[in-house]
Amino acid sequence: MRAVRRETPDVWTLELEPGGHYDYLPGQYALVGVDHDRQVRAYTLSSTPGLSTGLSLTVRRIEQGIGSNWLTGQVQPGDTLRLSPAQGRFTPGHAPGDAYLFLAAGCGITPVMSMTRWLLSHRPEVHLTVLYHVRREQDVIFADEWRALVRQYPRQLTLHRLIREHGREHTQLSATLLAGLVPDIAARTVMSCGPESYMQSASLLASQLGVPSERIHSETFLPKNTPAVEAVPVDAPRHRIVLEPWGDRAEAVQGGNLLAALEAQGVPMIAACRSGDCGSCKLKVLSGDYRMGAQTALSAQELAEGWVLACCCSVEGDLVVSQG
Ligand SMILES: Cc1cc2nc3c(=O)[nH]c(=O)nc-3n(C[C@H](O)[C@H](O)[C@H](O)COP(=O)(O)OP(=O)(O)OC[C@H]3O[C@@H](n4cnc5c(N)ncnc54)[C@H](O)[C@@H]3O)c2cc1C
Repeated sequence: MRAVRRETPDVWTLELEPGGHYDYLPGQYALVGVDHDRQVRAYTLSSTPGLSTGLSLTVRRIEQGIGSNWLTGQVQPGDTLRLSPAQGRFTPGHAPGDAYLFLAAGCGITPVMSMTRWLLSHRPEVHLTVLYHVRREQDVIFADEWRALVRQYPRQLTLHRLIREHGREHTQLSATLLAGLVPDIAARTVMSCGPESYMQSASLLASQLGVPSERIHSETFLPKNTPAVEAVPVDAPRHRIVLEPWGDRAEAVQGGNLLAALEAQGVPMIAACRSGDCGSCKLKVLSGDYRMGAQTALSAQELAEGWVLACCCSVEGDLVVSQG
């Protein structure tokens, strides 16, 4: 790490010097080794490819959070961080458009800033409206840079900072607010990032205001700590799980979550998003019955070969799985 900069009372930007060429698209994230590489968390690359010097991560410190406290409290300039190759589809290439509406709440602004810089610089014909929701004035991340961008690109960029302490009724996400601030919303590509409920509202309202579903995109930061499959009764039949090549053993109730069953036995698993997006918990099923929920992080070939995402896989019989 080259330097660390405090953005707000609980957010820091870590500036990194990549060891070699690092390919990424604006808005993508990397899996980052935290707590001396004992665990992995996903963080957006808040820098912009080709425009920023080096890479950056912008991290909100979460009470009791292992990764965020380590990154924002213990990592020092000169220390080395491990990053996976960049991944994710929350990027303009996967969400094409000539006009965008970005909706961000809190730390959800990190991919939005990365994409905003890129679009303003590379696509001068595109118009961007950004609605940025925060609780207090002091929580605005990249405050100086937003001011500079609005000054530099007055015709291309419209920024609305919606600060809850200035009055809930004028700032809360609603159809009236969206229709008032973004009258041409139906012609825009809508991308939202923030808490789950915020993005659900954003998607629903955009759809009600005429945005077709293929132009509505969102990215969640929250690891789903509840398994990504339905809850099952605890008295359901139990199945044995064996993890090759080491022969680790676990047990799951019928329909129980594979990742949760392995972690409950202390099996070290890398699972960053826990929602089927990142692919870090993929395992190959060598034998047994299972049911998959989300599987977007797997290719058709991987699915045909029996790979599953443990976070989204329910156990339907005795299973033998392998890490590679
Ligand atoms: C694709 C993606 C991109 C992300 N980008 C960023 C980013 O740019 N900046 C950033 O700060 N974070 C980002 N995150 C969230 C990040 O991966 C971690 O989940 C977050 O930093 C908390 O990790 P932790 O180890 O500190 O907390 P943990 O030790 O994992 O959890 C501690 C407690 O905090 C709760 N918690 C975990 N994550 C969150 C969260 N995001 N919000 C509120 N409560 C939470 C847990 O439920 C638990 O109760 C991203 C996540 C994803 C999936």
